[in-house]
Amino acid sequence: MNKIAPILLFATAISFSTGCKDRKDQPAAVPTENTEKEASANFSSLLSGVLANAELPQNISLKIQESIATDSAFIQAVNIILQEDPFLWMLIDKKHALPENYEPSDLVKLAKGSYRVGRDGLFLRSAAAASLEEMAAAAKSEKLTLTVSSTYRTYVYQVNVYNRKVKAAGQQAADRVSARPGHSQHQLGLTIDFGSITNAFAQTTEGRWLAANASRFGWSLSYPQGYEEITGYSWESWHYRYTGKELAKFIDTYFEGIQQYALRFLHEWKQANCSTSTSTPPPPQASQI
Ligand SMILES: [Zn+2]
Repeated sequence: MNKIAPILLFATAISFSTGCKDRKDQPAAVPTENTEKEASANFSSLLSGVLANAELPQNISLKIQESIATDSAFIQAVNIILQEDPFLWMLIDKKHALPENYEPSDLVKLAKGSYRVGRDGLFLRSAAAASLEEMAAAAKSEKLTLTVSSTYRTYVYQVNVYNRKVKAAGQQAADRVSARPGHSQHQLGLTIDFGSITNAFAQTTEGRWLAANASRFGWSLSYPQGYEEITGYSWESWHYRYTGKELAKFIDTYFEGIQQYALRFLHEWKQANCSTSTSTPPPPQASQI
């Protein structure tokens, strides 16, 4: 197979994968040898920029470059993910926040399912709730019951929690364990804290089962052990984000299971290909929970 072919495929797929309106209507050029070389050079430089800005470790960058040169699986995965709900792959961390008033429009209250709820009044977005039920049913078939302790948190709730932690332990200590308002994955309505919300959870049967199986159902551990410098948070063996199955597989296949690396890559990729658009999602629809 022509070595440039996958690169060209990726380059021509950009406009569709990112939803950049200004590129979408451009007519497809008939490739000549020169345009192929140009496209290849442009793409290589774009990819290098994305990998550098995403601050990926060298081994992961090399793996991605090799994957792209070998076949189109990586390209296809990126295309599928970027066409999904942007909140599934949105980078929310110490530097990237949700809009202050963001509230998902499809929150559902967790009712009795194959899982146990730690308290009444827990909400998730509908796709995450459905996936949780699927995962919990699988756990149950292995005689395990998952306990859901915390889910969606409003912006106002985060303000109160953060201020309380700063008051008790100071800002530096608070930042290690608690997100600043607007920077919590819990505001997405796609995130669950399981079990005890302590790292004793990692040694429980439920904790071990989730570590081994969650990604099959589209869930990803956000703050793994040994990655505090990368994620900005202490290890949280109980905190899982619903990313959808495609992205969960993508994280495992190309990013060594580290969600933060994959989300940074997608964020930078989107930025590089849509210089006119921003990472801010369209204004959300308000809803009552
Ligand atoms: Zn959490």
